[in-house]
Amino acid sequence: MERRDFIRGLALLAACPLCVKTAYAAESVHWSYNGEEGPDHWGTLGKENSACSAGAQQSPVDIKGAIRADIPDLSVEWKKGGTIVNNGHTIQIKVPAGSMLRRGEKTYELVQYHFHAPSEHLVEGKHFPMEVHFVHKHAETGMLGVLGVFLVPGAVNRDFSTLAAAFPGKAGEEASAEAADPSGLLPSSLRYWAYEGSLTTPPCSEIVDWMVAMDPIEVDAADIGKFTALYSMNARPALITNRRYILSSS
Ligand SMILES: [Zn+2]
Repeated sequence: MERRDFIRGLALLAACPLCVKTAYAAESVHWSYNGEEGPDHWGTLGKENSACSAGAQQSPVDIKGAIRADIPDLSVEWKKGGTIVNNGHTIQIKVPAGSMLRRGEKTYELVQYHFHAPSEHLVEGKHFPMEVHFVHKHAETGMLGVLGVFLVPGAVNRDFSTLAAAFPGKAGEEASAEAADPSGLLPSSLRYWAYEGSLTTPPCSEIVDWMVAMDPIEVDAADIGKFTALYSMNARPALITNRRYILSSS
């Protein structure tokens, strides 16, 4: 579906060089988490966002009724550092090349990680205060592998504190994430739920192998406050699973 749309887009550009401007302008359609530009309207804010309303495999979802299955263990080798960006929708850390996640035969490369408050995924109907999404790309297929980890208030997490102290206050601002190690935001066990879904922001493309860690990590409540002071609600509401299976690693 995605590829067909992409090819159709290329054909359109070839047929109409002057349309290029329009095509790029469409990419920057403004969206938000409430009101006229909120999640209920994303699908109609631009043609490229149609999956947000017409898609059948959308994310996030409420994780329940998971089926225990023999799914591959996860392992990560992530590098420290990067750049913290306030992109107007969240705080995102762009990472240096070469950080990998392995899931059985599949290898994905970490592109960026970012935060949501409250969590986007629910477990048995319940939200967590925050969720971090580690967005990886599969080199050959272009599919994304996104690992979600829930954040709950508790003991101080040094790496999250390092980031929180440097969160840029205004959209468009950047800061160094040199001292931050993304591996510090992982629970000790990588037991996880897996399902096939989408980006949780426009254009909601259905190209994501979702992995959601079962165990949350604890972070300082004051650091959660530093995020919610900037973004108090940047979570898309859960969508129906539509006969998709959610698999559980244990
Ligand atoms: Zn996300």
